[in-house]
Amino acid sequence: MDLFSRDQDYIANTYARFPLAVSGGKGSVWIGEDGREYIDLGSGIAVNVFGASDEEWVQAVSGQARLLSHTSNWYYTKPQVALACMLLEKSGMAKVFFGNSGAEANECAIKVARKYGGKRYKIISLEGSFHGRTLATLAMTGQDIFHEQYLPLPEGFTYVSPYDLAALEKAFDDPAVCALMMEIVQGEGGVEPISRAFAQRAQELCHEHDILLMVDEIQTGMGRTGALFAYMHYGLRPDVVTAAKGLGGGLPIGACLMGQKTEGVLSLSDHGSTFGGNPVCCAAALSVLGRMNQPLYDEINEKSRFMITELTGLPGVKSLSGMGLMLGIETVKPARETALQCLEKGVLVLTAKGKIRLLPPVNIPWPLLRIGMAALAESLA
Ligand code: PLP
Repeated sequence: MDLFSRDQDYIANTYARFPLAVSGGKGSVWIGEDGREYIDLGSGIAVNVFGASDEEWVQAVSGQARLLSHTSNWYYTKPQVALACMLLEKSGMAKVFFGNSGAEANECAIKVARKYGGKRYKIISLEGSFHGRTLATLAMTGQDIFHEQYLPLPEGFTYVSPYDLAALEKAFDDPAVCALMMEIVQGEGGVEPISRAFAQRAQELCHEHDILLMVDEIQTGMGRTGALFAYMHYGLRPDVVTAAKGLGGGLPIGACLMGQKTEGVLSLSDHGSTFGGNPVCCAAALSVLGRMNQPLYDEINEKSRFMITELTGLPGVKSLSGMGLMLGIETVKPARETALQCLEKGVLVLTAKGKIRLLPPVNIPWPLLRIGMAALAESLA
């Protein structure tokens, strides 16, 4: 209790925290300050891809921390180059800029779009989207509720419903548009995948109008949906991809990946970051990315099918949404109440826009997943 009240006294009250203080964790099990064990079905919001303090990740991070902690980008480092090579090879993109968070990766994408566009400066994003909390990424976020306190926001962002193809077509008629940004599964927007038809038409329109297709894979990336990036399920070839969260598997790193059309857009002094591509964070990311392969995606899809089967038709479940190990549950009871009941049962779940959101570590052992799902089923009812 003392910890809770001191947190409230000293830390800006921006988070509706769950009443749990965490002192440790290994894989998919977290340890509370009370010594109790909790099964984690949230991965620290899609960050702990292989769970908390995963052994391979710990070895990579501690080994690099002992060797060299930080240099700044005035110098070359092997982990940064190795990570860039692996990311580009696995994604088919051409260049990368490293930052420290999702919002920064999207800030970089906005700069790439603006510079590519020249006189064209507007970015279309989707209603219900979430792209970060800096002013520009807030402006790109298609949810008014995040905007209200911070007006006026930077100009040049326009929003289209992901369910309205006619509105999308119309938005492309604006000669000031230089890019379209979209999440394949809107995470904070309620774990809602966009339709294949919408994504395909968006890509066609981008090509027809020489407009950049940008995909925010910050929550959906790193195998989360059963592919390295969710756009890969839709056969898209984006010009810009942003990644963060799971990329570092527990350390802060963001990446803005540029394709053939955009690889030459940023030049000397156009952008920068003191910590971006820090060797320890890059070593962490290499240990995550190096394990992204088809057998893992198969395992993710198998676990996804199991979870969907378990949840389908359960009392208390109105509907299911999502892809892979990124699932949303529209609940009969308020989602937060359900999440609190899960917590009481020793299972950690997240919420998103009034839904329960599940983002378990991709390697969660089957017995833990079964126990977690059983506790969730009881809490939903
Ligand atoms: N984009 C998406 C899709 C996200 O889900 C988030 C975070 O939830 C962000 C961007 C912002 O990432 P960060 O909190 O690392 O700045």
